[in-house]
Amino acid sequence: MTVESHAAQGTKGREDSNAFVAFDTVGVSGDAPLLSVRNLSVHYPIKRGFVVQREVARVRAVDGISFDIRAGETLGLVGESGSGKTTAAKAVIQLKKPDSGSIMFEGRELVGLSASAMRPIRRKMGMVFQDPYGSLNPRMRAGDIVGEPLKVHGLAESGDDYRSQVAALLSTVGLSPGMAERYPNEFSGGQRQRLGVARAIAAKPSLLILDEAVSALDVSIQAQILNLLQDLQEQYNLAYLFIAHDLSVVRHISDRVAVMYLGRIVETADSEDLYDRPLHPYTQALLSAIPTPNPIHERSRDRIILKGDLPSPMAPPSGCHFHTRCPIAADVCSLTDPELRRLAPNQAAACLLASGYETAVR
Ligand code: SF4
Repeated sequence: MTVESHAAQGTKGREDSNAFVAFDTVGVSGDAPLLSVRNLSVHYPIKRGFVVQREVARVRAVDGISFDIRAGETLGLVGESGSGKTTAAKAVIQLKKPDSGSIMFEGRELVGLSASAMRPIRRKMGMVFQDPYGSLNPRMRAGDIVGEPLKVHGLAESGDDYRSQVAALLSTVGLSPGMAERYPNEFSGGQRQRLGVARAIAAKPSLLILDEAVSALDVSIQAQILNLLQDLQEQYNLAYLFIAHDLSVVRHISDRVAVMYLGRIVETADSEDLYDRPLHPYTQALLSAIPTPNPIHERSRDRIILKGDLPSPMAPPSGCHFHTRCPIAADVCSLTDPELRRLAPNQAAACLLASGYETAVR
């Protein structure tokens, strides 16, 4: 499709089912997905008024995103702070009710389920948070923290069974069972994150949502936790939704990556393709910011510096939401809202000017 024909479409493209189909089929083959998210939107109304509160604006935190995750697969969800990644994750686990869209998990629609109907399903979805200090109750012993899901979901048959499951969970994440009696402040940052992982896998989930799970850790500890996550994935066929603001962290763990900007997915691809041939200017800018270990390459590295800050999701720019910061924006970009379109067999981007690699890819 030419730029002119996109312009003629105006904003129609995003409402068009083609955008959805283009994304839906990118990188997806084989078995039915474990998690299937379609056109998910989460908006926060802004209200004003003393006596009668009226909605005066809407923050479109998540604005019509779609993705699939298969059993044993990792999808990296990347974007700047404020791009909607965490809100999307909370909507998946139903901690935030979506305004529209569908979330199918293990063949069941989650949108609209009551809290009691969600409880047994939430057991199948573990979550690991960014802050290994703040996410553990400082007054609970490590064994009680890790064993809490076993109690909540009634997964231990006896006191002995409970203790042996806790000991097994601690060893699975590389901690000594003898540490069960310690409090969180007696652990290092990496060990605390191991406790967070042990708690997340205690109820034997099929999906883990890892929300900036390694971002607060030193680089060497990050590598250890990423290795642990990869081992656990192999052992238990776990699927991961791996959220990070840093593309370099996501690279080694993700099978596929989706890049978010202002509540939307602007590019998605198999991990290798995205890092080798980023098609969206935003992805190109994020990748150009990653330092290389080779000092010669590092000196000659061309960094793409984006202009300005992330615009407010309350009043996103017209046309392509990225046009105010895009280094290659053309006039048409402020008029036309690009749909996510397939540009290579395993890659789609929402950019009017991006061209594909159909002839160059496999
Ligand atoms: Fe940049 Fe235009 Fe592409 Fe948007 S549509 S990413 S502004 S070139």
